[in-house]
Amino acid sequence: MKALVWHAVGDIRLDDVPEPAIEKPTDAVIRLTASAICGTDLHFVRGTFSKMQPGTILGHEGVGVIEALGDDVRNFAVGDRVVVCSTVSCGTCPPCREGNTAQCDNANPNGPAAGTCFFGGPAATGPVNGLQAEKARIPYAANTLVKIPDNVSDEQALMVSDIFPTAWFGAEAGEIKKGDVVAVFGCGPVGQFAIASAFLKGAARVIAVDGHVDRLAMARRQGAFTVNFEEEDPVETLNRLTGGVGADCAIDAVGVDSQHAHHGPAAEEAQQKADKFAAEVDQVAPETHPQAGNWVPGDAPTQALEWAIATLKKAGRLSIIGVYPPEAETFPIGKAMNKNLTLKMGNCNHHTIIPGLLELVRTGAIDPVKVLTKVEPLSDVLDAYKAFDKRQPGWIKTELVPQS
Ligand SMILES: [Zn+2]
Ligand SMILES: [Zn+2]
Repeated sequence: MKALVWHAVGDIRLDDVPEPAIEKPTDAVIRLTASAICGTDLHFVRGTFSKMQPGTILGHEGVGVIEALGDDVRNFAVGDRVVVCSTVSCGTCPPCREGNTAQCDNANPNGPAAGTCFFGGPAATGPVNGLQAEKARIPYAANTLVKIPDNVSDEQALMVSDIFPTAWFGAEAGEIKKGDVVAVFGCGPVGQFAIASAFLKGAARVIAVDGHVDRLAMARRQGAFTVNFEEEDPVETLNRLTGGVGADCAIDAVGVDSQHAHHGPAAEEAQQKADKFAAEVDQVAPETHPQAGNWVPGDAPTQALEWAIATLKKAGRLSIIGVYPPEAETFPIGKAMNKNLTLKMGNCNHHTIIPGLLELVRTGAIDPVKVLTKVEPLSDVLDAYKAFDKRQPGWIKTELVPQS
């Protein structure tokens, strides 16, 4: 079968690989009807999340149909239409029972202390082969798969595989309540769903910050106030748009590949911090391999965090759902501490959140397909990665369709 395989930093290929099979009684094998490219995948190709194992199939977002079931997967039948939780979880260990399925004790083959296990990630996360393929083996399928309701489409469910639940997890971590003013940093797909989640939870005003016009336009269509950090100082503007009080909650939906401003008034401050940002990039991306403008790491890993902390009100709440590798060790702790901020962060507990979101989609409370901007055949996956990596206009969220 065809699958997108990670060979090295800056080197991914659409290879022919053996089809997956049931290896354990808790496994299932699914035929993917669609998968998606995520910003997280780019970290592995840019080198800003390192220690990938060559040969790993990428991708952690997918929907499909069950083809085979292990003996201990008793809650599904062959032929069921399912959405894959990006993070693998067993459903029986103490963290899973508490709803912290991203911290499952059993999913990660490297042991309970190894942390989150997800599809298509670095060696320390499994590795488990990912979903940008025609078929996939799903470990702990009874918990890692969720059945798609009849009147929810594959495309809608695909958005609920990772990006919508991650954003929802961020809105819950930010304890957003009715009347809140929420600042969302990053208007990529997760940022878009963070805006939607904030509104669904009753936020009175959502202010979205990004440097790309098409992403800001989508945010504005959702009803968010938009701030372009390439045109104005985001901290100053946020201060004004929050009546000088600051945001109640800020969500970092950017992560390690954060960019500083290259134009406008915020570019000057970035210049002064050039050495600090360069040292941070060295720390998180010891090996990079840019080619023809692709696979360039973000140039300011803590920029989004700095802005978020600066724009929060006193005793405000910071929610971090942007991805950072274990090697990232810089955080503006002093500024956060002296403002009495509350910090919550982490990998999304997909299994816990996805069923509720499918219900919101089923009832029509939200149509998540509004964030999907491209549908491409799996055979064109390399070009799609390159366009998404360069943040080309219109390439906000890409669905990949196998066998077409
Ligand atoms: Zn993702
Ligand atoms: Zn577990």
